[in-house]
Amino acid sequence: MTLDILAIAAHRDDVEQTCGGTLLKAAQQGRQTGILDLTQGEMGTRGSVNDRANEAAEAARILQAEYRRAFDIPDGRVENTWENRLKVARIIRETRPRVVILPYWQARHPDHATAATLGYEACFLAGLKKLDILGDPHRPFKIVYASLYHDIRPTFVVDITAQFEQRLQSLFAYKSQYEDQAAGVKDFPAHAEIRQRIETMARFYGMLAGVEYAEPFVQKEVGLVDDLLMIPVKSI
Ligand SMILES: [Zn+2]
Repeated sequence: MTLDILAIAAHRDDVEQTCGGTLLKAAQQGRQTGILDLTQGEMGTRGSVNDRANEAAEAARILQAEYRRAFDIPDGRVENTWENRLKVARIIRETRPRVVILPYWQARHPDHATAATLGYEACFLAGLKKLDILGDPHRPFKIVYASLYHDIRPTFVVDITAQFEQRLQSLFAYKSQYEDQAAGVKDFPAHAEIRQRIETMARFYGMLAGVEYAEPFVQKEVGLVDDLLMIPVKSI
């Protein structure tokens, strides 16, 4: 299997929240996309691991992802160990993505921050010829960071106006998490409010680039421009 884009995240539904519209858009453009969840979400207040596995598969179908896999790294204890780096590196070699999406490296939830570092180091390791793990060496051409969880000005945004509704449905596929219910009612906003929050964020990032809805990303590298007349930004 060769993926164009692999999104790596700590928890099931992180990808749906931060870059699901971008993955769906890529799939609609004919790209092969995939998702690697590092944990199975067993610490969640609501729903069982089995529920979440079924919901994750349904969400992947809605986002038209070709590949989805979840590791069994303990939820709430994502650690950047050698063993975990090798696990992720094996998936990089197996799926051979050209672009990898990681969570932004600063985060309130420690698992998100660790997933960023772990993912970056695994991408590097996967390219080492002498690293003794299965598969041919492969290093992604590009890593970008989905920054929705962190209040930082993005390097670029992806217009997901046409994908917004479907991407929202991928999140609502996690019925155990997002349907109105008694469990965790103090900690979880109601269904209608979730929709409003997601929409507000997407509108905010869309507004920065003059479109209706968008998802934000940060890239570490400086952009390289050949033609000043072709820079893809909205006009002043
Ligand atoms: Zn998460």
